[in-house]
Amino acid sequence: MSEIRLLEQVSSFLTRNNGHYINGRAVNGSGSERFPVVNPSSGEVIAEVNEGTAEEVNAAMDAARAAFTGSWAQTSPMERGNCLNRLAELLQQHREELAQLESLCSGKIIQLSRLFELDQSSHFMRYFAGWASKISGETMSLSLPSMQGEKYTAFTRREPVGVVVGIVPWNFSIMIAVWKMAAALACGCTIVLKPSEFTPLTLLRVAELAKEAGIPDGVINVVNGSGRTLGPLLIGHPHCAKVSFTGSVPTGIAVGKEAMADNLKRVTLELGGKNGAAFLADVTPDAMVNGILEAGYMNQGQICAAAERFYLPKSHIDEVLQKLAQRLSQLHIGASLDESTEFGPLANRAHYEKILALFDKARQEGNEIVYGGNALQGPGFFVEPTIIRAKSAQDLLMREETFGPVCTFLAYEEEEELIAMMNDSPYGLAASLWTNDLSKALRMVDRIESGTLWINMHNFLDPALPFGGIKASGIGREFGSAFIEHYTELKSVMVRY
Ligand code: NAP
Repeated sequence: MSEIRLLEQVSSFLTRNNGHYINGRAVNGSGSERFPVVNPSSGEVIAEVNEGTAEEVNAAMDAARAAFTGSWAQTSPMERGNCLNRLAELLQQHREELAQLESLCSGKIIQLSRLFELDQSSHFMRYFAGWASKISGETMSLSLPSMQGEKYTAFTRREPVGVVVGIVPWNFSIMIAVWKMAAALACGCTIVLKPSEFTPLTLLRVAELAKEAGIPDGVINVVNGSGRTLGPLLIGHPHCAKVSFTGSVPTGIAVGKEAMADNLKRVTLELGGKNGAAFLADVTPDAMVNGILEAGYMNQGQICAAAERFYLPKSHIDEVLQKLAQRLSQLHIGASLDESTEFGPLANRAHYEKILALFDKARQEGNEIVYGGNALQGPGFFVEPTIIRAKSAQDLLMREETFGPVCTFLAYEEEEELIAMMNDSPYGLAASLWTNDLSKALRMVDRIESGTLWINMHNFLDPALPFGGIKASGIGREFGSAFIEHYTELKSVMVRY
């Protein structure tokens, strides 16, 4: 199969003088530096983007603050929801254009870009739109003693926290930003987004569509450039009231420290992990293989919730790994814009080099590489989907996040031992448990340490269900009603009458 034809809008977008989106318009940027955008399928530079400076940060934060106290504050909750619904509709109308742009920048296969980055993003956007008109406080009866017949009443209000800085990674450049912008806007906040420098283009286009959807200027702004430079400028800006960060644990810790040190700015951190998947012995080997493919290899393993450490019963592990290797060997590996591709490249050169170094470390540690473990012939950042058999729970690949298509397996004999191994990690974003014995599974639910636990499924997110990590995988929750407390402050009002 060959690659799909690029839409005319996509080709022309790539050749534009792209930079930032501030106060309702595309801005080239004041600095002279430009950074390249590389297509991971070919390794070729497909566009250049202006590197942001303090000038763009200040302009974006000023615009967001002015909109927060001005136009957006005057927009009724219902109308805020209507705006988000119109943007969801526009994402659908521009589905193919945005999906192509995403696949070109991130290497995500085009089918996944369409399904997750556009369809799911619209779905999430509509969910948040519904909340905009349903955010409310409570009334309370007070117990204060009345001296001269006076009475008291009290109520709480949920007030928008202010300007949100949304810092997002490269693995789902549209969807993760949509989670943040829709949550912020539904609560009455405004936002300045900082995309990853590897995927700087899609959000520029989304911001343009937001204007078309009737969202006032300054409510959504996008500043592009290096996280290390722009991150501290954004977080430390006096207008920044809250940081909503998604990314790796080390960067998340740095962001959290920075926000706390700067007058306790509010912060939510959606970080990485080393998610476990446990298969009980009643599951058939073929069902285990299907479960492992779902949990570990989608989007080349570049999903924060993907499982990376797998525990299989000792009685099954040899057969399952052999069948899994056979299934991986049948995957069609290719360019992200080829519709027949099932497994694409890694998202960027730095990540590709990191995964190759991890293959070397696995070999040095004496792990058995059951399948894969090599780079594929270029061009592009392709590696083989890989199966590693660990020697012990202490092996590096059982402990350190790879964020790639590298699944590591360990056998267990007793279910008690299994629970201890599942919990033996400083992280706790997501986990899955696979069994036909639902009663046994439900008894294990409160014993497994993770923010999300899937039973007989993995990697499914729904806007109605809160998502976030425990332990070193983060602070705070996205989705459900849980997001509201992270984008609003609770004000108590007391009245004597
Ligand atoms: P990353 O290196 O931590 O970068 C994330 C974002 O932070 C990027 O926009 C990056 O900009 C920016 N950044 C870098 N240094 C910064 C600093 N000092 N201050 C402020 N911002 C800074 O993560 P990544 O490699 O893009 O993404 C992969 C990681 O994200 C994995 O660990 C994965 O598990 C995690 N993740 C978590 C979730 C979740 O919901 N829990 C979802 C997806 C991904 P530059 O790109 O310009 O450096």
